[in-house]
Amino acid sequence: MDVSLLLDGLNDKQREAVAAPLGNHLVLAGAGSGKTRVLVHRIAWLLRVEEASPFSLMSVTFTNKAAAEMRGRINALMQGNCAGMWNGTFHGLSHRMLRAHYLDAKLPEDFNIIDSDDQMRLLRRLIKAQNLDEKQWPARQAAWYINGKKDEGLRPAHVETFNDPVEQTWLRLYTAYQEACDRAGLVDFAELLLRAFELLKYNKHIREHYQARFKHILVDEFQDTNNIQFAWLRLMAGPECHVMIVGDDDQSIYGWRGAKVENIQRFLREFANTSSIFLEQNYRSTGNILQAANALIAHNNERMGKNLWTDGSEGEKISVYSAFNELDEARFVVGKIKSWQDSGGALNDTAMLYRSNAQSRVLEEALIQAGMPYRIYGGMRFFERQEIKDALSYLRLISNRNDDASFERVVNTPARGLGERTLDTIRMAARDRGITMWRASVELLDEKVLAGRAANSLRRFVELVNALEDDTRDLPLYQQTDEAIRASGLRAMYEQEKGEKAQARIENLEELVTATRQFEVPEEAQEMSPLAAFLSHAALEAGEGQADEYDDAVQLMTLHSAKGLEFPVVFMVGVEEGMFPSFRTSEEHGRLEEERRLCYVGMTRAMEKLFITHAEMRRLYGKDNFHKVSRFVREIPEEFIEEVRMKAQVSRPSTGGRFSQTQVNDNFNQTGFNLGQRVQHPKFGEGTIINFEGSGTQSRVQVAFNGEGIKWLVTQYAKLEAM
Ligand code: ATP
Ligand code: MG
Repeated sequence: MDVSLLLDGLNDKQREAVAAPLGNHLVLAGAGSGKTRVLVHRIAWLLRVEEASPFSLMSVTFTNKAAAEMRGRINALMQGNCAGMWNGTFHGLSHRMLRAHYLDAKLPEDFNIIDSDDQMRLLRRLIKAQNLDEKQWPARQAAWYINGKKDEGLRPAHVETFNDPVEQTWLRLYTAYQEACDRAGLVDFAELLLRAFELLKYNKHIREHYQARFKHILVDEFQDTNNIQFAWLRLMAGPECHVMIVGDDDQSIYGWRGAKVENIQRFLREFANTSSIFLEQNYRSTGNILQAANALIAHNNERMGKNLWTDGSEGEKISVYSAFNELDEARFVVGKIKSWQDSGGALNDTAMLYRSNAQSRVLEEALIQAGMPYRIYGGMRFFERQEIKDALSYLRLISNRNDDASFERVVNTPARGLGERTLDTIRMAARDRGITMWRASVELLDEKVLAGRAANSLRRFVELVNALEDDTRDLPLYQQTDEAIRASGLRAMYEQEKGEKAQARIENLEELVTATRQFEVPEEAQEMSPLAAFLSHAALEAGEGQADEYDDAVQLMTLHSAKGLEFPVVFMVGVEEGMFPSFRTSEEHGRLEEERRLCYVGMTRAMEKLFITHAEMRRLYGKDNFHKVSRFVREIPEEFIEEVRMKAQVSRPSTGGRFSQTQVNDNFNQTGFNLGQRVQHPKFGEGTIINFEGSGTQSRVQVAFNGEGIKWLVTQYAKLEAM
């Protein structure tokens, strides 16, 4: 193979990095400047030119998706000649080591990895076993404490409590938790890293084995490494190892989870003779997108400082769409994707990025309505999320007591003291008598065969579900849902827990209430109760599974999980004050800068076209919020932005680009109404137009009436009058 091939398609700076002499190297550069590309070519260079054995190479990336992508790229460059190389995430590689050395790691051969939900369940049990009040000592906070200590490399014996009783209690929980995990052979995510670190630290022969083996270690996205990962790397890299790290301080977005951007400086101090290479040319994005992103990030003070340029075209301006509400926003985005598709674009090339997972529901529904396949990364589809499934299970039991799956799911969620033994008794009775678990419960209660405590708990559950049905029968669906979430204790359960994830769950539950409020019984389900119709709607949506069966699908993900990726067309949605930055973060200086970096990450994912949308009114987490456009949009100089007008009456001729200003609401405007317009209906009274579909005589409008709820009306017959 001609070596020059390895340097083809690289600029001088990139070549310098790829062909650098063996040693420690830092490549510091902004988004889209080819850092990951350099890393891949460097690996090929080491294999080809330095004749390194694949066995002596390790590359570390941040997500599994990125690792898979890197493997693919190296394979392509090397035509498959790289077997034996280690490539993965810090967690994945740690796991691999622990499997290989389980004895030295003091783990059973068949140890299991637990996710954060399992961890939480275990902690809840321990908190109870220690007779601690769950309100005062929430499992969520315990997990936060324990994971934080592990990320710092601290075992219980290392923690100094300074006789602080609060700290001592957390520490006691940490100790009990670790003992329970060790007894059961369970390893949580933070434990993977810490255990692998200790394996290297306390086992000289293993450390020497790996240090002798790995002569080249390459780490992508280094700005988001935390302390234990840094320590892990220090041990893995022996005196003869060459380490190349690449990163971008402007893209450090995991500070809230313990990542330390200072690790870049620390690397310079602690790894001998590191040479630094800076890349400044961006190959990903058009001039407009890039300059806008540069201008945005310049508002941060804590920067190592660098600027990016491109010699590519200016491209189209960034389209900023100010939507009336979140439905309008979703419809706008889907409409734009449709025009992209109609002009021959692939759905795979489009991405919707949002700040928090709860925002995906409205987008998902708009996509489903438009019949567009989509795929969600790093998150579950809305109706498949744990807390949503919990809430739906209560609703399903209200609707049908014999739903055993729902019964199993919530009979002890929130915990009401029903142990496995009691559940087994119920299961057995159900099986023996050929009846459902609900029936079996009722019969067992009648027969008084259960122990007092178990019987009481079970009776409370049965009464709860019965009462839920009785009390909510005459309420509209959304109130019924709200009441189920409240009376079941689900909301209180999540409220007791602290942390980002618990907050997200509560937000999702409230989002479920919004979903039921916006839900309309479809034609074919008019015979069903609204509840039954909604439940089948939810089941069908969830049942579609991840869209892996589609080759071509719109990509949905949070801004965090978009790191390192790129797409020709990007939609950043919900870019509003209060959403992004969120209220919580806009107060604190450090967190605001991290949010701005997240915005920078989002913008720089776009190659050809970037849309930024925000909604003036957003129904989220169960209430209407009026939001101003995000300060981040205002920080982008106007020259890079084109505002998409909502209520224009005439369409201008196309200016050439695929997304030039066609008027989104042309069809709608033929009806003579606008979104947001106040109208009067002879029967329903006053309302506001919040949505529309179809055109001409086919068109329908959705109106939020002051007293009568939200209705779809056929425009032609509705006798609506503008006010
Ligand atoms: P991020 O900070 O977002 O992770 P990055 O610095 O890792 O970005 P890459 O993903 O490696 O950037 O590269 C961005 C895009 O530019 C990719 O599509 C890559 O193939 C392309 N690219 C990089 N260098 C060159 C080059 N010299 N010539 C042409 N295209 C390039
Ligand atoms: Mg990259």
